[in-house]
Order: sequence, then structure tokens, then C-alpha cells
Amino acid sequence: MTARMIDGKALAAALRGKVAEEVQRLSRSHGLVPGLAVVLVGHNPASEVYVGSKAKMTALSGMRSFDHRLPESAGESDLLSLISRLNGDPAVHGILVQLPLPPQIDPQKVIAAIDPGKDVDGFNPMNAGRLATGLPALVPCTPVGCVILAKSVHPILAGLAAVVIGRSNIVGKPLAQLLVAESATVTVAHSKTRDLPAVCHRADLLFAAVGRPQLVRGDWIKPGATVIDVGINRIDVGGKTRIVGDVAFDEASLVAGAITPVPGGVGPMTIACLLVNTLRAACAIAGLPAPAL
Ligand code: NDP
Repeated sequence: MTARMIDGKALAAALRGKVAEEVQRLSRSHGLVPGLAVVLVGHNPASEVYVGSKAKMTALSGMRSFDHRLPESAGESDLLSLISRLNGDPAVHGILVQLPLPPQIDPQKVIAAIDPGKDVDGFNPMNAGRLATGLPALVPCTPVGCVILAKSVHPILAGLAAVVIGRSNIVGKPLAQLLVAESATVTVAHSKTRDLPAVCHRADLLFAAVGRPQLVRGDWIKPGATVIDVGINRIDVGGKTRIVGDVAFDEASLVAGAITPVPGGVGPMTIACLLVNTLRAACAIAGLPAPAL
């Protein structure tokens, strides 16, 4: 193995530590305790794990965690009225509705109903528009985490060739916006991209957010490139479930200069960035300056 391993767990722990210090300071000096409400509809097993970790990390950082569960059969109006209550609740500074939602609920309606000031996932069109136009915004957590991981290798991204595979509203598009804001030269690839291996081979920074196990092979990677693997794919290996990324890690780590593992790379950073967003939202709602993190 030649690539340096980017330790997302350690970087995330350091960021969570800073959040916890800032939460203590806010509570001491302003009597303000940030609160995050997480809403889960139904019993998707992966979602239950994510929601559990988010609630645990929120409480460990000293913030209040509010857990709301609705049955699989819940109607759109049930969820919208819960969101309306949370929008008006002064103890709640961040609202996160875990996706995916059951088919009877339109996720776009739900996302649009969240107060943009409490939209700690950064999916509300108001925040997406603010990010795209360079205004202060609550920015989706996974892309922010990806940029922090990339900057742990290259503190300055300006001028680097970045390729993002994936153009979802959750990861690919906001990640591309953040990289443009960092003055990287950005290419966004997707399922219609021609000759994806050649496109990837030009990247100094390669971000894979596809949801296809081990799609990116070692020979797609430019020698010495930094590879950030967002994918979380569950595969069956000899009757056991294993989690792998969108990058064939063993091959890629022989070519890349630095690479994130799956698990232990982007995942922990996503949760740490969610805590940062909740803290930022709480400060903004209280009219306090943004925390120095
Ligand atoms: P989506 O399914 O919403 O988007 C996938 C993107 O990949 C689409 O833009 C799609 O293109 C593109 N794509 C699909 N197949 C190919 C292909 N063969 N070649 C090139 N591009 C392709 O997924 P998400 O963005 O929500 O998530 C991506 C991955 O990241 C998933 O594995 C997910 O689990 C993981 N994830 C991890 C998080 C973390 O915290 N670590 C957080 C969020 C997601 P097109 O638009 O043309 O269909």
C-alpha cells in the first residue's frame, strides 16, 4: 500500500471536540443549549443506525437531542404538521428528516417545509440557492466533510483538477459548488458521462458519490491523486454483509497519494458536520456571531 490513509474518524473526533467546547462556552456565557430534532419515519434499518449515531453524537457534544419517530404508514400531513411544530419550537435549532421517506410522502415538500434557518441538512432550496450564489448558508454535511478531508491533504485546493462522480442534490451538486468556491477546476460526472475512467484519470482530487460498489478501479486513478470515497454500499460476502465504498480500495490505494477508507472516512465527518451546522444554526437564531471552528 502506498497511499496515505485519511483518518476520517480522527478528524471527525477533533471537530466534535471543538463543537463540544463551543457548546459549553455558549451555555456558560449565554445560557444557550443548541437542540437538534431528528425525525425518522418507518423502520429502514440503515436509517435507524444513522439516526441512532446522530442522536448519540449530539448528546455527547452537550447539545439537546430530540428524537421523533413516526410509523411507516404516516401520511404527508402528519410529517408536515410535526415539522411545523418543530419550526416553532424555541428549544429546537436544527431539524433533520432522515431520508429516504416512505413512498406516500413527497421528500421535496417535506424539505421545503423546514425553516431554512433550522435546515441543518442544507437541502432546502433556499440554502441550496444561497450556496450556489456564494451567500452564507447551511450547507449539506457530507460535501462539507469531503472538503475538510481533502483539505487535510491539500490545505489549498485552488487550481487543482477535481472530479466529482455523482450529481445528487445531497452530495454531488453541493460538493461541486463548494469546490468551485475553493477555486478548484471542477468536472461533475454522472451515469451519462462518456469514458468515465479517462475523466477520472485527470483528477488531482477524485470524489466518488455514486452508490455502486467498487465502481472506481485502481487504473482509473491518476498516480498520487487524493481519493475521497463517499459511497456506502452493503454487499454480501460469503453470507455476511460487508460495507464497501464506490472505490475498489485495495487497488486504488496502490496508486493514490491519499485515500479515505469505508467505513471510517466520510461517514464520521458527515455527523461531525451536522453538529457544526446545528451549532451555527443556534448561534444565528440567537443573533450571536458564528462560532470559530
Ligand atoms: P444518488 O443515487 O442520489 O446519486 C448517484 C449519482 O451517481 C447520480 O448522479 C448518478 O447519475 C450517478 N451514477 C450512478 N451510476 C453511475 C455510473 N455507473 N457511472 C457514473 N455515475 C453514476 O446517490 P447519493 O448522492 O445520495 O449517494 C451516493 C453514495 O453516497 C451512496 O452510496 C450513498 O449511500 C452514499 N452516501 C454516503 C454518505 C456518508 O455520510 N458517507 C451520505 C450520503 C450518501 P445520474 O444523475 O445520471 O443518475
